[in-house]
Amino acid sequence: MTASTDTMTDHWIDGSPTTGAGAIAVVNPATGETIAEVPRGGTAEIDAAVGAAQRAFPAWSATPVADRVAAVLRIREGIKARHEELAQSITAEMGSPIAFSRSVQLGMPMASSKGVAGVAESFAWSEEIGNSLVVREPIGVVGAITPWNYPLHQVVAKLAPALVAGCTVVLKPSEVAPLTAGALAAITAEAGLPAGVFNVVHGTGPEAGEALAAHPGVDMVSFTGSVAAGRRVQEVGAATVKRVALELGGKSANIVLDDAELSKAVKVGLGNCFINGGQTCTAWTRLLVPEALHDQVVELAVAQTAKYGVGDPTDESTRIGPMSSATQQERVTQYLERGVADGAQLAVGGPGRPDGVSEAGAYVRPTIFAGVRRDMTVAQEEIFGPVLSVMPYSDVDEAVDIANSTIYGLAGAVFAGTQERGVEVARRMRTGQVDVNGGAFNPVAPFGGYKQSGTGRELGRYGLEEFLEIKSIQL
Ligand code: NAD
Repeated sequence: MTASTDTMTDHWIDGSPTTGAGAIAVVNPATGETIAEVPRGGTAEIDAAVGAAQRAFPAWSATPVADRVAAVLRIREGIKARHEELAQSITAEMGSPIAFSRSVQLGMPMASSKGVAGVAESFAWSEEIGNSLVVREPIGVVGAITPWNYPLHQVVAKLAPALVAGCTVVLKPSEVAPLTAGALAAITAEAGLPAGVFNVVHGTGPEAGEALAAHPGVDMVSFTGSVAAGRRVQEVGAATVKRVALELGGKSANIVLDDAELSKAVKVGLGNCFINGGQTCTAWTRLLVPEALHDQVVELAVAQTAKYGVGDPTDESTRIGPMSSATQQERVTQYLERGVADGAQLAVGGPGRPDGVSEAGAYVRPTIFAGVRRDMTVAQEEIFGPVLSVMPYSDVDEAVDIANSTIYGLAGAVFAGTQERGVEVARRMRTGQVDVNGGAFNPVAPFGGYKQSGTGRELGRYGLEEFLEIKSIQL
């Protein structure tokens, strides 16, 4: 699989592909082969893109909301029309199994863009408070910085609400998985988006990313990625007091109560841990179980793990592909070694290459650690691989305490005998979203983190509000 349009390897500035200096190789993690290159943008390209976005802002922000929504829906149609090409591209650049790319990597942007288009119609763009007319206005030029794990979804989750709000956008996509951003730029042009409303500058985080976050012409940065990079974006953005929205990492807990349906809790729980090879910010990587049920749960989880076939991501039956890069493979392996050294019991998996996979691919073994204590590194740090820590607890208070014992607070789950009991425990968890008994993902519910998992919320009405300023006009 190689880049299939000319625009895929260029920046996209002011409505046109723009060549740039330097080159960053895009490597297929299943084969180790370079499949494309993107230019290595920096201050000059960011300046040009921000300038284009500033020039486009007055007309775009004055475009009626219905027309902005219509543009987002045309972009959505463009994504739909290129569904297979985009799914193949994501699989090639970051190793997501093709069945998962088609269903989830492409399904999420379809759902989130439809969701924000839907809420825009009923949104209170103005209201009266006493003698004041309170209006919601676009914040201005948005700098968007995105990671590699859901390369199209993360971009659309920012672009669609920003466009509906009336903002213009400069995107710095992940340098690991930048190809769909190039394809999306072409789609926006086909959808008739005016020049300068959406711009893409490729490059590394410390170069293009920081130049974007620091730029005085950028009114807001919407960042998704690691805590370390998010912290840096906040620091750099502080010089111009811009709004900074951060969607960062997680170490989410799945609390299984003593009256829960155990087989469902383990099956759904493991699915949400191994999702996208565990490279998902909301992954439920800690499974908290009553002490008396620990061994039974581990047995069920080990049996369930056998269903997660690891291998070539282009194979329709593969459930776990390679890690997104050799760097990520190395990082996960180091955590596996650390878990063993810290005394976690290896129930299945561990360091090393899975059987039967290509030597050239960045594969790791799906792993379950049992008897994990909260002071262990594997219980505290985000691994971002297919690694589950099973942690015993003595009572519900201790379970909640363990769940809340990391720097993160992005997602989580509770499995309980009754919904009422599940919600009671969910309310005690310091985290931005909790699924009770496997409650389904809701693409218009607010999504974001407590604590160091970030600031702000994406998706639906809350995601739209993030890109708006509030003005009071006294009458
Ligand atoms: P990363 O932080 O390394 O990179 C994310 C983006 O930030 C990339 O575009 C990168 O180039 C850029 N970047 C890196 N350093 C920067 C800097 N100093 N200034 C400006 N930009 C910089 O993260 P990653 O490895 O691509 O993605 C994995 C991380 O993303 C995980 O921690 C994961 O939990 C998190 N994530 C969070 C969410 C969420 O919604 N909360 C969603 C997906 C991923």
